Amino acid sequence: MFEPTEEKIVDFGDALNNNCGILRSSRIRSPCRSIQAGFRVHFSAYLGVFMQRSIVFGLVLVVLAAAVLFRSVVVVGSDLSPAGTQAERPPDGGGEAPFQPTDEISEGARVAIWQEIRSNIDRLEKDGRLSPATPQAVPLTMPVEKSPGLTDFDVIGISNYVDHNFAFPNQLQDYNCGTRTYDLSSGYNHRGIDFFTWPFSWNKMDNNAVRIVAAAPGTIVSKSDGNFDRSCSIGSGSWNAVYVRHADNSIAWYGHMKSGSLTTKSVGESVVAGEYLGIVGSSGSSTGPHLHFELYDSGNNLQDPYQGNCNTLNAVGWWAVQEPYRNSKVNKLMTGSAGPVFPSCPNPEISNEKKIFRRGDALTTSAYFRDQLSGHQTQYALVRPDGNNQVTWSHTSPNSYNASYWFWNWTVAANAPAGQWKLRATYQSVVYETTFVVAGTGNFDMDGDGKTDISVFRPVGG
Ligand SMILES: [Zn+2]
Repeated sequence: MFEPTEEKIVDFGDALNNNCGILRSSRIRSPCRSIQAGFRVHFSAYLGVFMQRSIVFGLVLVVLAAAVLFRSVVVVGSDLSPAGTQAERPPDGGGEAPFQPTDEISEGARVAIWQEIRSNIDRLEKDGRLSPATPQAVPLTMPVEKSPGLTDFDVIGISNYVDHNFAFPNQLQDYNCGTRTYDLSSGYNHRGIDFFTWPFSWNKMDNNAVRIVAAAPGTIVSKSDGNFDRSCSIGSGSWNAVYVRHADNSIAWYGHMKSGSLTTKSVGESVVAGEYLGIVGSSGSSTGPHLHFELYDSGNNLQDPYQGNCNTLNAVGWWAVQEPYRNSKVNKLMTGSAGPVFPSCPNPEISNEKKIFRRGDALTTSAYFRDQLSGHQTQYALVRPDGNNQVTWSHTSPNSYNASYWFWNWTVAANAPAGQWKLRATYQSVVYETTFVVAGTGNFDMDGDGKTDISVFRPVGG
């Protein structure tokens, strides 16, 4: 009557449920609707068919009850959302970057700047300290770069190009026939490129995190320093700037620098391409930290370094390698204790960045984009120390931005595996990752291999 049976593997289903993860969304508090994928029960016994079914049914009830009462126990080791099943998840906050700087260099200021440059060049030539200009191509490289040690993937966005429509106001045309530029009712048409720092411009300025470097080798022909550098509005005084004359007599202006940050080299000294000139700031007539880069050819005619169909100034571009008009990328991925706060200008941002979490902590994941366009989708994953995804989701940009950010709030559950986790974002076929640590309550297991690691981090309660 009782026949031996082989070992049974009862699969209780592979329903997916993003709401009952080890890292739970704090926005959605509904209970788990299902047990997790791959939960298996093994047993071997000599049982009749009737008894088997009774026991299986009983086990189902027990596991279902456990799933409700002790859901965190059930989800350990389960992959909540295997690749390919990402659901669109509305962010808990974010949107367009709060500040995108503009500026104005008044006609009066320009006259004074040119007088200074020309008188310095005359003096340097007279003293034999400036080689005669020779016609040649002067390829430019990027005039902004992150300082060594900064872990952001990238640090800038572009808020404004040169305005090629010289009527005003609101008669706009950039080199690419778009309108990413501006003019003012005063008659000012923007004559340079505004590279702004993103995210956390004021923090970056305070930490000297983004440097202005020479786009081409040349000689410093003028510089001004010591001016107030936390301007928030147009018409607010003189800027800190460095002016470099290249071998062909073309001249580049680097403006709005942080006070006291300028290169110690003086007028008449030469710089190489990529050499430090100063720190991005908001001195002069400026609404936030950015570099205003302005370029003149050997005859002192305004140039736009970008080659494009609507560049009315010069047919040939100046960049050694011209960036695309839209350079879509993730500048920074971050974990934090809460979403970022952007106070009014010129107060430093509160990033709320945090890298080490205890179980039960709030955890916010955020991403900061440059040139994120409408319809662009990003795939996100929180990756456990064992390399498996804990939760995945996606987000589609509802609009096009020069700079944007989005964040999601979670809670680190009581049984989250200790060790080094990853926040991963895949955007425009590029994978970006940052790490964070969930500290255990006992021995500290940094790499999740089950062994205690020697670490600078003190174990919680240890
Ligand atoms: Zn500008």
